Amino acid sequence: MNIPRTSFPRVVIIGGGFAGVALAKKLSKQEVQVVLLDKNNYHTFQPLLYQVSTGGLEPDSIAYPIRKILKDFPNFYFRLANVDEIDTEKNKVVTDIGKLKFDYLVVASGSETNYFGNSEIEKHSMAMKTIPQSLNLRSLILENFEDALLTSDLNERNALMNFVIVGGGPTGVELAGALAEIKKGILPKDYPDLDTRLAQIHIVQSSDCILKGMSDKASKKAEDFLEKLGVNIWKNVRVTNYDGKTVTTNTDLTFETATVVWAAGVKGATIKGVDAEEFITRGNRILVNEFNQVKGFNHIFAVGDIACMINDEFPNGLPMMAQPAIQQGKQLGDNLLRLIEEKPMHSFKYKDKGAMATIGRNKAVVDLKRFKFQGIFAWYVWMFVHLFFLIGFRNRMVVFVNWVYNYVRFDREARLIIRPFKKRLKT
Ligand SMILES: Cc1cc2nc3c(=O)[nH]c(=O)nc-3n(C[C@H](O)[C@H](O)[C@H](O)COP(=O)(O)OP(=O)(O)OC[C@H]3O[C@@H](n4cnc5c(N)ncnc54)[C@H](O)[C@@H]3O)c2cc1C
Repeated sequence: MNIPRTSFPRVVIIGGGFAGVALAKKLSKQEVQVVLLDKNNYHTFQPLLYQVSTGGLEPDSIAYPIRKILKDFPNFYFRLANVDEIDTEKNKVVTDIGKLKFDYLVVASGSETNYFGNSEIEKHSMAMKTIPQSLNLRSLILENFEDALLTSDLNERNALMNFVIVGGGPTGVELAGALAEIKKGILPKDYPDLDTRLAQIHIVQSSDCILKGMSDKASKKAEDFLEKLGVNIWKNVRVTNYDGKTVTTNTDLTFETATVVWAAGVKGATIKGVDAEEFITRGNRILVNEFNQVKGFNHIFAVGDIACMINDEFPNGLPMMAQPAIQQGKQLGDNLLRLIEEKPMHSFKYKDKGAMATIGRNKAVVDLKRFKFQGIFAWYVWMFVHLFFLIGFRNRMVVFVNWVYNYVRFDREARLIIRPFKKRLKT
């Protein structure tokens, strides 16, 4: 990989997401060599992916070049590489561009969509975990409306305008809200010769409420907001299959649809070498101790979504959210320096800063530790927090200007089929 050996210990980080970047920033002015490996040359701000999928934002406003984030740090190296394996005996990572030795290794590879073993659903449904996937979804939604214009078969037309979102967590809720606003504000203008009132948006949720991790008040209010926007919410219904045409469930309910978005769960993006049963726990995540160390190793760590840190408050592990990832990344930076200096490390303590979700224009729900609120003020808070955590001044400005423009004009300018994606309906 053409990375020189120096007198400094080498810390290899796999993944430039929230956790990997927070850790690299913490280490980069210290007496360590930091090598960050990622299969993409950019960091993705996943919380706004749904806005890319629905034409509200261009993809480059929620992505940021990893090299630029860490450009001023002398001991920092980035390599565009997919890590295939970790050789824990020889302390090497094996990648598609070569092997690299490490003194300390941090796995920050995040998570991937969990289809719970259903290959048909995996094949036919759309995921929204990466920028290319969000662009695929954007194209598919728009292509479906173009096709709906062309068909004279009423059932096919309905299926093309029928959207089924599986999973009523923040991702499903935010996407449903955005689609409902498109239906109301944009489709009638773009497709005046199509009866877009027939477009339907469904959320299918296996439990008895949406936004399960949030307060009852937030959940009920979100449901209320969505129903007012015309979204159908099906609770206590589990999707069992989707063959590209029909969604079947564990009840009598079925949906004929050309678009299923699978937002029903994620699992750890494990890497060979630390994926054996002894390392892995619930959700395919790597079990770590309170210092983020992987079982049996002093010098191999995992942080963020991939790491499952269990404590009394979180018996199933810390939530797979941005805050635990950022906080673990920062804390591990301190702990690695302490470890190198042979000082005792500090246990990680998660500071829960709350959760929020937006349902659309002027509508959001926010649960903070002390305060819970919903509506327009919550929506401002949601926007402020998302702008604050976006990386890069340009991205913040672009997103802010886009939001103001979209708000004032009731518009979503990025409704472009740049890269056509079409799953043909089975006939
Ligand atoms: C649609 C969506 C909406 C979300 N909304 C919210 C929200 O509103 N609030 C919130 O707190 N959280 C939200 N999350 C969750 C949040 O984005 C994650 O918890 C967070 O990104 C985890 O950070 P991470 O650093 O662990 O992993 P990630 O940010 O996923 O980063 C992992 C990185 O590792 C790289 N990588 C993976 N495997 C390899 C490999 N083998 N070789 C090389 N590189 C590799 C990836 O390319 C990626 O850059 C959302 C997630 C999604 C998908």
